[in-house]
Amino acid sequence: MKKTAITVIILMLAAVLAAAVCVSCTTGPDEPSGSPTDGSRTPGPEITATTTKNPADGPTAAPTDVSNQTEAPTPSWTEEPDIKPLSGVVIYINAGHQGKGMTEKEPLAPWGPEYNGQYNNTVTKTKCTSGTEGRFTHVAEHVVTLQIALKLQALCEEQGATVVMSRTTEDVTKSNVERALEANECGADIALHIHCNGSENQNASGVEVYVRGEGKKTEAYKKLEDKDYILGLSILEEICKTTGAKKRYVSKSDNYSTINWAEMSSLIIECGFMSNEEEDNLLVTDSYQNKLAQGMLNFLIKEFGILFPA
Ligand SMILES: [Zn+2]
Repeated sequence: MKKTAITVIILMLAAVLAAAVCVSCTTGPDEPSGSPTDGSRTPGPEITATTTKNPADGPTAAPTDVSNQTEAPTPSWTEEPDIKPLSGVVIYINAGHQGKGMTEKEPLAPWGPEYNGQYNNTVTKTKCTSGTEGRFTHVAEHVVTLQIALKLQALCEEQGATVVMSRTTEDVTKSNVERALEANECGADIALHIHCNGSENQNASGVEVYVRGEGKKTEAYKKLEDKDYILGLSILEEICKTTGAKKRYVSKSDNYSTINWAEMSSLIIECGFMSNEEEDNLLVTDSYQNKLAQGMLNFLIKEFGILFPA
């Protein structure tokens, strides 16, 4: 009796083990049988390459033959569009000044004195001056600003941005208000106005940024004022990182028509002092201009770029 009982127990255990092996060699409940995504599974003999090609099979058709599937072309839905960090971003780049200045006047701001008693549309400013020039190199500011602007344009376009340039040559006649209106019309997300500085003090050096002040003094304007100030700090930081230039300051001002007429964030970047010997010599070189443009690009990607998941 005892021996028989042991035999029965052994047989029962064998049956249980056999059942367990069967379960482990079949597909688990989470994975549909014959999933076409499982390339390691050996297809059963009943599956043929023609089964899924017959529309009459409908949704219950047997899965695709795996060996055939690996040779199939990549489905079109896996082809991703060419997305770059600045894809979809519109940037207006204004190379400050132009070959020949425009001495006529134009209104400093679009709003009337009822909004701002000091800075308004009754105040006029020269349409466009030809800018300063290097005290040591004697290169004109409008030449340097265009060289930097063209470098920035190339970098931005490489990163997928849509760039609208105020000019790509010295030979243009475009006032500061016209440039601001052009930025409005193209739907720019940001306008960058590239300039170089000059001072009686030859020791003055470094980068400055000008942003809008209280302007129209409305609630909406205040929001833009706050936003632009933060952007001003950010671009100053990035430019000084790539150039090693002295970080001067971000200054709010209502005295620039390019800013006052702009409906978007609009920043004036004074890239350096053409009255300072060291900076004047640097500003005319490709290598330093590249550093300036790279700093501006880094800012644009940081503040306007698409964030890719890690
Ligand atoms: Zn200038």
